[in-house]
Amino acid sequence: MTPLIPHPPAETPAAPSNFIREIVLKDLDTKKYNGRVQTRFPPEPNGYLHIGHAKSICLNFGLAAEFGGKTNLRFDDTNPEKEEQEYVDSIIENVRWLGFDWKEPDGTERVFYASDYFDQLYAWAVQLIQSGKAFVCDLTAEEMRRYRGTLTEPGKESPYRNRSVEENLDLFERMRAGEFPDGARTLRAKVDMASPNLNMRDPVMYRILNAEHHRTGNKWSIYPMYDYAHGQSDSIERITHSICTLEFEDHRPLYDWFIEQLGIFHPRQIEFDRLNLTYTLLSKRKLLQLVQDNLVRGWDDPRMPTLSGIRRRGYTPEAIRNFCGAIGVSKTNGIIELGLLEHFVREDLNRRAPRMMAVLRPLRVVIDNYPEGDGSVDELDAVNNPEDASAGTRKVPFSRVLYIEQDDFREVPPKGYYRLSPGKEVRLRWGYLITCTDVVKDEQGNVVEIHCTYDPATRGGNAPDGRKVKSTIHWVSAAHAVDAEVRLYEPLFTKENPNDVPEGQEFTANLNPASLEVLTGCKLEPSLAAVQPFERVQFERLGYFCADPDSAPGKPVFNRTVALRDSWAKIEKREKGK
Ligand code: ATP
Ligand code: MG
Repeated sequence: MTPLIPHPPAETPAAPSNFIREIVLKDLDTKKYNGRVQTRFPPEPNGYLHIGHAKSICLNFGLAAEFGGKTNLRFDDTNPEKEEQEYVDSIIENVRWLGFDWKEPDGTERVFYASDYFDQLYAWAVQLIQSGKAFVCDLTAEEMRRYRGTLTEPGKESPYRNRSVEENLDLFERMRAGEFPDGARTLRAKVDMASPNLNMRDPVMYRILNAEHHRTGNKWSIYPMYDYAHGQSDSIERITHSICTLEFEDHRPLYDWFIEQLGIFHPRQIEFDRLNLTYTLLSKRKLLQLVQDNLVRGWDDPRMPTLSGIRRRGYTPEAIRNFCGAIGVSKTNGIIELGLLEHFVREDLNRRAPRMMAVLRPLRVVIDNYPEGDGSVDELDAVNNPEDASAGTRKVPFSRVLYIEQDDFREVPPKGYYRLSPGKEVRLRWGYLITCTDVVKDEQGNVVEIHCTYDPATRGGNAPDGRKVKSTIHWVSAAHAVDAEVRLYEPLFTKENPNDVPEGQEFTANLNPASLEVLTGCKLEPSLAAVQPFERVQFERLGYFCADPDSAPGKPVFNRTVALRDSWAKIEKREKGK
């Protein structure tokens, strides 16, 4: 499903070397901000953070850290209708989980809220009215759109543009006091209706919205627009470099205009490319729709590109940070292969995930010449992680009845199939060589059990006579197995660009009906009985898996984070094609 990707360079820098870094270096050189670097990450608390936000987080925190600066977490909470405390909490948790912190040495936290600046923003708006740079406008939204003009056609000035300062002050105060219904009036900046930049055509600064805010309650009946609130919030916090995505490039003249009119501290806005990923949607609005319409199991569904979702899927913060470092930043929007993100989680988990054995689709194997139980357990030594000697070894119990994968047996083996089939010998991982002697079928002709013999002289996996077997398969002892549920995932969308739909259809038309496959009755080796939620392991030959919070004592549930990209999957596919 996932396209193959070119191998990225082995060494991926933690803080990407990029054009933004060059700008910062230059500002440091010219002492523009007295050698200070301060950034912010400004999420709107109207949804959960996604992998695109991770790019912005890594960039902002990474740059400041590199130059001994600070990063503020600032909630851009100027839109009370869509914002909630639940989102604030999840954002704080997610940024911490990614590994970033905003604590001062004295323990205070650099967490800020645009809503804390509402009084200051209001005072500045009054100042702009007084200097003739802002006016109260009575045009409806529809009229305003018509007056605004287009890219090829200049705008028309509002008939309310030349109200006196006194009238503007009076009306603005009454807007604030809640005298008018929603949308009845706006406060607009008086810039230039003939500007080729539509954002400069007397943009709205405040709108009337008699809505309760999750932090300021019912104090305000007017709320500032993003363009007015953002730069001024940056200025209040003395942000030096205000890094945002490319769609704000055309807003930069307005960002600068407000700050210049007010004569306040002037941060530098720098734009970079948004992250887009194949088979993935990175729009909070659309992700919210998936959650609200129950098309996924919640914001933290392991198929979601949210940080909560990919964490539950088993991704590590290190993998995400390495990915963000590797993709870097640029001035043009592109699209990154989902396979690249998977590459980084594989690389990280390969280093640290212990190897365990699990059988997802069990087939019973009886070793006929293995002694019936006498109470003692034949325990084999298994290496926990060949990549990490410090991970040590563990004991894996062997017994007369085992489970292997159904796929690891073929009654009639196709060409090139070297796993178990009648008369053939294979190695059981960490165990013995076994040879298949018989097949038991049900009435429909399905194989339900196979019989084998084992060679007691091959304990540990090697034959003293040096004879070779071509295949090693994993297994679990039936008497000791732990039953588990395992959830396998495919991308949530069937199209590289989930927004690519025929006219009149929604992106949901591209949802992948096979994105989740739930397997029950999977058999795990007993050391996995006490697994804790979010523990990550490699099931040998099957991929990396992460224990889900739905796990209960003795009843683990695992999510497959990512399959192992090896020849197994390819051979599998080739065989199925035959
Ligand atoms: P969405 O489109 O998902 O709603 P947003 O831009 O509205 O995203 P914000 O909460 O305003 O969400 O974003 C906070 C910060 O994260 C902003 O600086 C924004 O530019 C950045 N950001 C959002 N999405 C991406 C992305 N896909 N790639 C890089 N940065 C992003
Ligand atoms: Mg936004």
